[in-house]
Amino acid sequence: KMNTDLGQHILKNPGVASAIVEKAALKQSDHVLEVGPGTGNLTVLILKKAKAVTAVEMDPRMAAEVTKRVQGTPEGKRLKVLLGDVIKTELPYFDVCISNTPYQISSPLVFKLLSLPTPPRTCILMFQREFAMRLFAKPGDKLYSRLSVNVQMWARVSHVMKVGRANFNPPPQVESNVVRIEPKHPRPQISYDEWDGLLRIAFVRKNKTLRAGFLGTTAVIELLEGNYRLWCAQNDVPVDDSPIDGQTDEPETMDIDQGGAEEEEWKGFSDPDVEDDEVPDFFQQVKKTRGKKKRGRVTQLVKEKIRRVLEDETKLADKRARMCDEGDFLRLLYAFNSEGIHFA
Ligand code: SAM
Repeated sequence: KMNTDLGQHILKNPGVASAIVEKAALKQSDHVLEVGPGTGNLTVLILKKAKAVTAVEMDPRMAAEVTKRVQGTPEGKRLKVLLGDVIKTELPYFDVCISNTPYQISSPLVFKLLSLPTPPRTCILMFQREFAMRLFAKPGDKLYSRLSVNVQMWARVSHVMKVGRANFNPPPQVESNVVRIEPKHPRPQISYDEWDGLLRIAFVRKNKTLRAGFLGTTAVIELLEGNYRLWCAQNDVPVDDSPIDGQTDEPETMDIDQGGAEEEEWKGFSDPDVEDDEVPDFFQQVKKTRGKKKRGRVTQLVKEKIRRVLEDETKLADKRARMCDEGDFLRLLYAFNSEGIHFA
Protein backbone atom coordinates (compact mmCIF):
# COMPACT_ATOMS: atom_id res chain seq x y z
CA LYS A 1 0.00 0.00 0.00
CA MET A 2 1.41 3.35 -1.08
CA ASN A 3 1.84 6.12 1.43
CA THR A 4 0.91 9.27 -0.49
CA ASP A 5 1.69 11.40 2.59
CA LEU A 6 5.28 10.57 1.74
CA GLY A 7 4.70 11.46 -1.89
CA GLN A 8 4.87 7.83 -2.95
CA HIS A 9 3.98 8.01 -6.61
CA ILE A 10 5.98 5.33 -8.35
CA LEU A 11 7.14 6.02 -11.86
CA LYS A 12 5.62 3.21 -13.90
CA ASN A 13 6.66 4.30 -17.41
CA PRO A 14 10.13 2.80 -18.09
CA GLY A 15 10.63 5.23 -20.97
CA VAL A 16 10.36 8.20 -18.64
CA ALA A 17 12.65 6.55 -16.09
CA SER A 18 15.39 5.97 -18.65
CA ALA A 19 14.96 9.48 -20.10
CA ILE A 20 15.54 10.97 -16.64
CA VAL A 21 18.72 8.96 -16.12
CA GLU A 22 19.85 9.72 -19.69
CA LYS A 23 19.49 13.47 -19.05
CA ALA A 24 21.90 13.25 -16.14
CA ALA A 25 24.70 12.40 -18.62
CA LEU A 26 26.38 10.19 -16.02
CA LYS A 27 30.03 9.25 -16.18
CA GLN A 28 31.23 5.81 -15.10
CA SER A 29 33.17 7.48 -12.30
CA ASP A 30 30.15 9.31 -10.84
CA HIS A 31 28.82 8.94 -7.35
CA VAL A 32 25.06 9.57 -7.49
CA LEU A 33 22.68 10.61 -4.73
CA GLU A 34 19.15 9.43 -5.25
CA VAL A 35 16.44 10.93 -3.05
CA GLY A 36 13.45 8.68 -2.40
CA PRO A 37 14.29 5.56 -4.46
CA GLY A 38 10.94 3.98 -3.64
CA THR A 39 10.86 0.54 -5.26
CA GLY A 40 14.04 1.34 -7.19
CA ASN A 41 12.87 1.96 -10.76
CA LEU A 42 15.39 4.76 -11.25
CA THR A 43 17.97 3.20 -8.95
CA VAL A 44 18.61 0.13 -11.10
CA LEU A 45 19.08 2.30 -14.20
CA ILE A 46 21.47 4.65 -12.39
CA LEU A 47 23.52 1.71 -11.10
CA LYS A 48 24.16 0.63 -14.69
CA LYS A 49 25.73 4.00 -15.55
CA ALA A 50 27.48 5.15 -12.41
CA LYS A 51 30.13 3.97 -10.03
CA ALA A 52 28.10 4.16 -6.85
CA VAL A 53 24.68 5.22 -5.63
CA THR A 54 23.66 6.48 -2.23
CA ALA A 55 19.90 6.38 -1.91
CA VAL A 56 18.13 8.13 0.97
CA GLU A 57 14.69 6.72 1.70
CA MET A 58 12.41 7.59 4.56
CA ASP A 59 10.04 4.63 4.38
CA PRO A 60 11.62 1.47 5.84
CA ARG A 61 9.46 -0.78 3.62
CA MET A 62 10.66 0.98 0.50
CA ALA A 63 14.26 0.95 1.73
CA ALA A 64 13.93 -2.83 2.19
CA GLU A 65 12.39 -3.25 -1.23
CA VAL A 66 15.07 -1.41 -3.16
CA THR A 67 17.77 -3.24 -1.18
CA LYS A 68 16.17 -6.61 -1.98
CA ARG A 69 15.83 -5.71 -5.65
CA VAL A 70 19.58 -5.54 -6.21
CA GLN A 71 20.66 -8.03 -3.57
CA GLY A 72 23.05 -10.67 -4.87
CA THR A 73 23.72 -8.76 -8.10
CA PRO A 74 27.04 -7.05 -8.86
CA GLU A 75 25.18 -3.73 -8.69
CA GLY A 76 24.04 -4.48 -5.16
CA LYS A 77 27.52 -3.83 -3.81
CA ARG A 78 27.55 -0.35 -5.30
CA LEU A 79 24.28 0.73 -3.70
CA LYS A 80 24.11 2.15 -0.21
CA VAL A 81 20.68 2.83 1.21
CA LEU A 82 20.40 5.37 4.03
CA LEU A 83 17.17 5.18 5.97
CA GLY A 84 15.83 8.57 6.99
CA ASP A 85 14.63 12.01 6.02
CA VAL A 86 17.02 13.39 3.42
CA ILE A 87 16.62 16.90 4.81
CA LYS A 88 17.99 15.76 8.18
CA THR A 89 20.54 13.31 6.83
CA GLU A 90 24.19 14.20 6.60
CA LEU A 91 25.02 13.56 2.97
CA PRO A 92 28.25 12.08 1.64
CA TYR A 93 30.03 13.71 -1.31
CA PHE A 94 28.31 13.02 -4.63
CA ASP A 95 28.68 14.27 -8.22
CA VAL A 96 25.09 14.12 -9.41
CA CYS A 97 21.69 14.06 -7.74
CA ILE A 98 18.72 12.34 -9.36
CA SER A 99 15.29 12.30 -7.80
CA ASN A 100 11.65 11.78 -8.47
CA THR A 101 11.20 14.11 -5.56
CA PRO A 102 8.56 13.72 -2.88
CA TYR A 103 6.86 17.05 -3.48
CA GLN A 104 6.52 17.93 0.19
CA ILE A 105 10.26 18.52 0.39
CA SER A 106 10.81 20.28 -2.96
CA SER A 107 11.99 23.59 -1.59
CA PRO A 108 14.10 22.41 1.35
CA LEU A 109 15.73 19.80 -0.89
CA VAL A 110 16.72 22.37 -3.51
CA PHE A 111 18.26 24.64 -0.90
CA LYS A 112 19.98 21.77 0.84
CA LEU A 113 21.59 20.75 -2.47
CA LEU A 114 22.65 24.33 -3.21
CA SER A 115 24.14 24.95 0.21
CA LEU A 116 26.35 21.84 0.39
CA PRO A 117 30.03 22.65 0.98
CA THR A 118 30.82 20.99 -2.36
CA PRO A 119 27.69 21.17 -4.48
CA PRO A 120 27.08 18.48 -7.09
CA ARG A 121 27.90 18.99 -10.77
CA THR A 122 24.28 18.64 -11.75
CA CYS A 123 20.87 17.68 -10.37
CA ILE A 124 18.06 16.12 -12.40
CA LEU A 125 14.92 16.49 -10.34
CA MET A 126 11.24 15.91 -10.95
CA PHE A 127 8.83 18.35 -9.32
CA GLN A 128 5.21 19.26 -9.59
CA ARG A 129 4.71 21.50 -12.58
CA GLU A 130 4.14 24.84 -10.92
CA PHE A 131 7.12 24.50 -8.61
CA ALA A 132 9.32 23.50 -11.55
CA MET A 133 8.14 26.47 -13.58
CA ARG A 134 8.88 28.84 -10.71
CA LEU A 135 12.42 27.50 -10.58
CA PHE A 136 13.23 28.51 -14.15
CA ALA A 137 10.86 31.51 -14.55
CA LYS A 138 12.40 34.72 -15.91
CA PRO A 139 11.53 38.37 -15.12
CA GLY A 140 8.04 39.16 -16.40
CA ASP A 141 6.86 35.51 -16.40
CA LYS A 142 3.72 34.88 -14.43
CA LEU A 143 5.47 32.47 -12.08
CA TYR A 144 8.58 34.61 -11.56
CA SER A 145 8.94 34.79 -7.80
CA ARG A 146 11.32 34.93 -4.88
CA LEU A 147 12.10 31.24 -5.43
CA SER A 148 13.15 31.95 -9.04
CA VAL A 149 15.58 34.73 -8.16
CA ASN A 150 16.88 32.92 -5.14
CA VAL A 151 17.67 29.66 -6.91
CA GLN A 152 19.00 31.33 -10.04
CA MET A 153 21.55 33.23 -7.98
CA TRP A 154 23.19 29.95 -7.00
CA ALA A 155 22.47 27.75 -10.00
CA ARG A 156 21.61 27.58 -13.67
CA VAL A 157 18.18 26.06 -14.01
CA SER A 158 16.71 24.62 -17.19
CA HIS A 159 13.64 22.71 -18.20
CA VAL A 160 14.15 19.09 -19.23
CA MET A 161 10.69 17.60 -19.91
CA LYS A 162 7.06 17.38 -18.96
CA VAL A 163 5.74 14.21 -17.36
CA GLY A 164 2.01 13.59 -17.25
CA ARG A 165 0.16 12.23 -14.21
CA ALA A 166 -0.64 8.95 -15.95
CA ASN A 167 3.03 7.92 -15.78
CA PHE A 168 2.77 7.34 -12.05
CA ASN A 169 1.13 4.82 -9.79
CA PRO A 170 -0.95 6.08 -8.11
CA PRO A 171 -1.29 9.20 -10.30
CA PRO A 172 -0.63 12.39 -8.34
CA GLN A 173 -3.06 15.33 -8.34
CA VAL A 174 -0.85 17.45 -10.54
CA GLU A 175 1.35 17.23 -13.60
CA SER A 176 5.12 17.04 -13.22
CA ASN A 177 8.21 18.46 -14.88
CA VAL A 178 11.83 17.45 -14.80
CA VAL A 179 14.39 20.22 -14.36
CA ARG A 180 18.17 20.40 -14.44
CA ILE A 181 19.86 22.42 -11.70
CA GLU A 182 23.56 23.10 -12.12
CA PRO A 183 25.13 24.86 -9.15
CA LYS A 184 27.41 27.73 -10.18
CA HIS A 185 31.14 27.23 -9.69
CA PRO A 186 32.50 29.04 -7.85
CA ARG A 187 29.60 29.96 -5.65
CA PRO A 188 28.77 33.69 -5.90
CA GLN A 189 30.43 35.60 -3.07
CA ILE A 190 27.36 37.10 -1.45
CA SER A 191 25.63 36.32 1.79
CA TYR A 192 22.78 33.87 1.40
CA ASP A 193 20.82 35.50 4.23
CA GLU A 194 21.23 39.04 2.90
CA TRP A 195 20.12 38.00 -0.57
CA ASP A 196 17.12 36.14 0.76
CA GLY A 197 16.26 38.98 3.15
CA LEU A 198 16.24 41.55 0.35
CA LEU A 199 14.10 39.30 -1.86
CA ARG A 200 11.61 38.67 0.92
CA ILE A 201 10.85 42.37 1.11
CA ALA A 202 10.93 42.98 -2.65
CA PHE A 203 8.53 40.11 -3.37
CA VAL A 204 5.96 40.70 -0.66
CA ARG A 205 4.12 42.71 -3.29
CA LYS A 206 5.81 41.69 -6.49
CA ASN A 207 3.41 43.62 -8.74
CA LYS A 208 4.04 46.91 -6.96
CA THR A 209 6.95 49.25 -7.57
CA LEU A 210 10.02 48.88 -5.41
CA ARG A 211 9.27 52.34 -4.02
CA ALA A 212 5.92 51.07 -2.77
CA GLY A 213 7.51 47.87 -1.51
CA PHE A 214 10.29 49.50 0.46
CA LEU A 215 8.83 52.89 1.43
CA GLY A 216 5.10 52.28 1.34
CA THR A 217 4.68 50.39 4.58
CA THR A 218 5.63 51.13 8.15
CA ALA A 219 6.47 47.46 8.65
CA VAL A 220 9.30 47.43 6.14
CA ILE A 221 10.72 50.75 7.33
CA GLU A 222 10.67 49.57 10.93
CA LEU A 223 12.37 46.34 9.98
CA LEU A 224 15.11 48.17 8.09
CA GLU A 225 15.46 50.73 10.87
CA GLY A 226 15.98 47.90 13.34
CA ASN A 227 18.61 46.35 11.09
CA TYR A 228 20.28 49.73 10.62
CA ARG A 229 20.44 50.31 14.39
CA LEU A 230 21.97 46.89 14.85
CA TRP A 231 24.56 47.57 12.17
CA CYS A 232 25.40 50.95 13.81
CA ALA A 233 25.81 49.29 17.20
CA GLN A 234 28.10 46.62 15.74
CA ASN A 235 30.18 49.19 13.87
CA ASP A 236 30.40 51.88 16.58
CA VAL A 237 28.42 54.35 14.48
CA PRO A 238 26.57 56.76 16.81
CA VAL A 239 22.82 57.15 16.18
CA ASP A 240 21.05 60.42 16.80
CA ASP A 241 17.88 59.54 18.66
CA SER A 242 16.95 63.04 19.76
CA PRO A 243 13.38 64.00 18.91
CA ILE A 244 12.72 66.28 15.98
CA ASP A 245 11.20 69.61 17.06
CA GLY A 246 7.52 69.88 16.33
CA GLN A 247 7.09 66.44 14.81
CA THR A 248 7.83 64.03 17.58
CA ASP A 249 4.31 62.70 17.48
CA GLU A 250 3.64 61.95 13.89
CA PRO A 251 0.19 60.37 13.56
CA GLU A 252 0.45 56.69 12.96
CA THR A 253 -2.19 54.51 11.43
CA MET A 254 -0.61 51.13 11.66
CA ASP A 255 1.25 49.18 14.25
CA ILE A 256 3.02 45.95 13.80
CA ASP A 257 2.75 42.72 15.70
CA GLN A 258 5.64 40.61 14.57
CA GLY A 259 4.38 37.54 16.35
CA GLY A 260 6.45 34.45 16.95
CA ALA A 261 4.68 31.67 15.05
CA GLU A 262 4.15 33.51 11.82
CA GLU A 263 7.66 34.87 11.88
CA GLU A 264 8.88 31.29 12.00
CA GLU A 265 6.85 30.37 8.94
CA TRP A 266 8.49 33.19 7.12
CA LYS A 267 11.89 31.73 7.54
CA GLY A 268 13.12 28.82 5.47
CA PHE A 269 11.38 27.59 2.38
CA SER A 270 8.84 25.32 3.93
CA ASP A 271 5.94 26.57 1.88
CA PRO A 272 6.84 26.48 -1.81
CA ASP A 273 3.29 25.98 -2.99
CA VAL A 274 2.09 29.28 -1.67
CA GLU A 275 2.26 32.25 -4.03
CA ASP A 276 4.73 34.80 -2.73
CA ASP A 277 1.91 37.26 -2.62
CA GLU A 278 0.08 34.97 -0.25
CA VAL A 279 2.97 34.20 2.06
CA PRO A 280 2.13 35.18 5.62
CA ASP A 281 3.73 38.56 5.68
CA PHE A 282 3.97 41.79 7.53
CA PHE A 283 0.69 42.94 6.12
CA GLN A 284 -1.34 40.15 7.59
CA GLN A 285 0.25 40.89 10.91
CA VAL A 286 -0.44 44.59 10.74
CA LYS A 287 -2.91 45.69 13.36
CA LYS A 288 -4.68 48.93 12.78
CA THR A 289 -4.33 51.20 15.78
CA ARG A 290 -5.40 54.72 16.40
CA GLY A 291 -2.48 55.52 18.63
CA LYS A 292 0.32 57.92 17.96
CA LYS A 293 3.82 56.70 17.60
CA LYS A 294 7.07 58.45 18.24
CA ARG A 295 9.07 59.11 15.11
CA GLY A 296 12.67 60.06 15.55
CA ARG A 297 15.59 61.17 13.50
CA VAL A 298 16.68 57.63 12.80
CA THR A 299 13.42 56.82 11.04
CA GLN A 300 13.84 59.92 8.90
CA LEU A 301 17.42 59.00 8.17
CA VAL A 302 16.55 55.44 7.18
CA LYS A 303 13.72 56.62 4.92
CA GLU A 304 16.10 59.05 3.27
CA LYS A 305 18.67 56.30 2.78
CA ILE A 306 16.06 54.01 1.20
CA ARG A 307 14.89 56.83 -1.06
CA ARG A 308 18.46 57.56 -2.09
CA VAL A 309 19.15 53.90 -2.91
CA LEU A 310 15.99 53.52 -4.98
CA GLU A 311 15.88 56.88 -6.74
CA ASP A 312 19.45 58.11 -7.02
CA GLU A 313 21.84 55.20 -6.74
CA THR A 314 20.00 52.40 -8.57
CA LYS A 315 17.19 54.32 -10.32
CA LEU A 316 14.97 51.31 -9.69
CA ALA A 317 12.24 53.06 -7.68
CA ASP A 318 9.61 52.75 -10.39
CA LYS A 319 10.44 49.21 -11.44
CA ARG A 320 8.26 46.33 -10.23
CA ALA A 321 9.89 43.38 -8.50
CA ARG A 322 8.34 41.00 -11.04
CA MET A 323 10.33 42.77 -13.77
CA CYS A 324 13.67 42.98 -11.95
CA ASP A 325 16.43 40.57 -12.88
CA GLU A 326 19.28 39.23 -10.81
CA GLY A 327 21.49 42.18 -11.77
CA ASP A 328 18.88 44.66 -10.53
CA PHE A 329 18.59 42.91 -7.18
CA LEU A 330 22.36 42.70 -6.84
CA ARG A 331 22.68 46.44 -7.47
CA LEU A 332 20.01 47.06 -4.87
CA LEU A 333 21.75 44.88 -2.32
CA TYR A 334 25.11 46.60 -2.81
CA ALA A 335 23.55 50.06 -2.67
CA PHE A 336 21.61 49.28 0.52
CA ASN A 337 24.67 47.71 2.12
CA SER A 338 26.81 50.73 1.31
CA GLU A 339 24.23 52.87 3.16
CA GLY A 340 24.61 50.60 6.19
CA ILE A 341 21.27 48.91 5.55
CA HIS A 342 21.37 45.15 5.82
CA PHE A 343 18.80 42.41 5.44
CA ALA A 344 20.09 39.75 7.74
N1 SAM B 1 12.02 7.01 -7.08
C1 SAM B 1 10.77 6.26 -7.08
C2 SAM B 1 10.16 6.29 -8.46
O1 SAM B 1 10.49 7.21 -9.22
O2 SAM B 1 9.37 5.42 -8.78
C3 SAM B 1 9.80 6.77 -6.02
C4 SAM B 1 9.50 8.24 -6.04
S1 SAM B 1 8.24 8.75 -4.91
C5 SAM B 1 7.63 10.20 -5.76
C6 SAM B 1 9.08 9.52 -3.55
C7 SAM B 1 9.83 8.61 -2.60
O3 SAM B 1 10.48 9.42 -1.60
C8 SAM B 1 8.98 7.65 -1.81
O4 SAM B 1 9.57 6.38 -1.86
C9 SAM B 1 8.97 8.19 -0.38
O5 SAM B 1 8.87 7.17 0.61
C10 SAM B 1 10.31 8.88 -0.31
N2 SAM B 1 10.38 10.02 0.65
C11 SAM B 1 9.38 10.86 1.03
N3 SAM B 1 9.84 11.82 1.85
C12 SAM B 1 11.17 11.60 1.98
C13 SAM B 1 12.22 12.25 2.72
N4 SAM B 1 11.95 13.34 3.46
N5 SAM B 1 13.47 11.76 2.64
C14 SAM B 1 13.74 10.68 1.87
N6 SAM B 1 12.79 10.01 1.17
C15 SAM B 1 11.52 10.46 1.22
